[in-house]
Amino acid sequence: MAEENMMFIDPHIHMISRTTDDYEAMRQAGIVAVIEPAFWLGQPRTNAGAMLDYFSTIVGWERFRAEQFGIVHYCTIGLNAKEANNEELAEKTMDLLPRYASKEGVVAIGEIGYDDMTDLEEKYFHQQLELAKKMDMLVLIHTPHRNKKQGTIRSMDLCEEHGLDPSKVIVDHNNEETVEDVLDRGYWTAFTIYPGTKMGNERMVDIVKKYGTERIFIDSAADWGRSDPLGVPKTAQLMLQRGISKEDVKKVCYQNALDAYKQSGAMKEEDWLDRPKIDQSQTYGGNSVLRGGLEPFIEKEEPSEDDIIIE
Ligand SMILES: [Zn+2]
Repeated sequence: MAEENMMFIDPHIHMISRTTDDYEAMRQAGIVAVIEPAFWLGQPRTNAGAMLDYFSTIVGWERFRAEQFGIVHYCTIGLNAKEANNEELAEKTMDLLPRYASKEGVVAIGEIGYDDMTDLEEKYFHQQLELAKKMDMLVLIHTPHRNKKQGTIRSMDLCEEHGLDPSKVIVDHNNEETVEDVLDRGYWTAFTIYPGTKMGNERMVDIVKKYGTERIFIDSAADWGRSDPLGVPKTAQLMLQRGISKEDVKKVCYQNALDAYKQSGAMKEEDWLDRPKIDQSQTYGGNSVLRGGLEPFIEKEEPSEDDIIIE
């Protein structure tokens, strides 16, 4: 990235489906922390055991794997809207949520919300909002791809029905159609930079120019589909080129996500400012990130040229 010395957070990315090359590129581009929201895997799960293993992966192995590349990994725990439509799976998953939601590094209940706005989606959306309230946790809302505006408004209505404070709720995947309502009602307003679809980088620059930077932040939502794990730093670069100040870029690509999620008590800046040195000779459950006799990378105590300098 041309703009050196900037730190970025990607507050919505599904690293479980990305490679270690992505972690390396992300770190080089200045990404210091990521949040991995629990979501579906493309292939629907057929039983709650699959969900249990998935939750274990995103609170365990994936956290370790990120650390091996100098990135701090957090996650959110929830039953996603698509799989809420499998009632048997949904019921059993609901039983797992409290246990996983209270684990280290879990910053919210999420991503929850609507897909097709079915009755079952609504049922488990209600139940998970209630759980968040009971556990005093933040909520990450996935807004639907179809009927986005309607789904977004309805999602906020539900949060308010449950007495949730909008400052404790992150509404994600916004676009030009939803931004005003979400900001006006006091929610954190996140945008996903998907190449060519949801939000392109160019459109995001226009949004920031029009609406400013308060409570607005961006993510890549990169997963197993066509997406870009460098969506945040690339958009930051474009914003700078288009005359948005470095201070504003920092808010949208780092500070606001931190301010939103640090309310959880599970995420703080020191986590990456004072993170442990990378030591790829470490293992997790006997597994390492190395293959075929590769030499482990061991970070030196002295800052290397890769290290991110704080402005
Ligand atoms: Zn997602």
